[in-house]
Amino acid sequence: MIHIKAFYFNDLRECSYVLWDETKECVFIDPGCYSESEKERLVKFVEANSLKPVKLLNTHGHFDHIMGNAFVAGKWNLETYIHASDKPHLARAQQYTEMFGYKIEQPPLNTVDVTDGSEVKFGISTLKVIHTPGHTKGGVCYYSEDDKIVITGDSLFSGSIGRTDLPGGDYEELMESLLDKILKLGDDYTVYPGHGPATTIGHELATNPFLRYE
Ligand SMILES: [Zn+2]
Ligand SMILES: [Zn+2]
Repeated sequence: MIHIKAFYFNDLRECSYVLWDETKECVFIDPGCYSESEKERLVKFVEANSLKPVKLLNTHGHFDHIMGNAFVAGKWNLETYIHASDKPHLARAQQYTEMFGYKIEQPPLNTVDVTDGSEVKFGISTLKVIHTPGHTKGGVCYYSEDDKIVITGDSLFSGSIGRTDLPGGDYEELMESLLDKILKLGDDYTVYPGHGPATTIGHELATNPFLRYE
């Protein structure tokens, strides 16, 4: 069974997740830790729970989701999994974050591609990948069929959906990703978004005003 811990990191209160199972192997999803104290909190959590980090996964390449990539990949010697279309975000992350007054280490660029149908394993668990463009070109969600959880990045939030006005964003594409892919996983899936609290697909279908379509 997959356990999940959320951290709210950096000025954008980005949700960084740690997922692990009974083997104690764990993966990080979107490590956005920026300050020294945030990095320390993450390390302490891993150590206190005797976790063994094996992979770093990104839902997309926006800077609030990758600020901690260099630290996490370096600290535990991990490969980074990301969709090829969002790799350019990693390449220009330092330059881009500087414009907002942040200073980050260069995220590793030798990444492993994930796309629709990819599987990412840790311990005895498997995360499946769906390509969900719209917020960015290479946005993906990671989900577990056994545990009925989906990590949606900035595609779907509790009560809202991702913005599509940033470069690479496309409203039609996002709605397709939501309606044809994410929401079809099933009402009983718990959604862990890139910002804000967890929710369920059933709850979003019933209440999310951005998902109403006639
Ligand atoms: Zn984003
Ligand atoms: Zn974000």
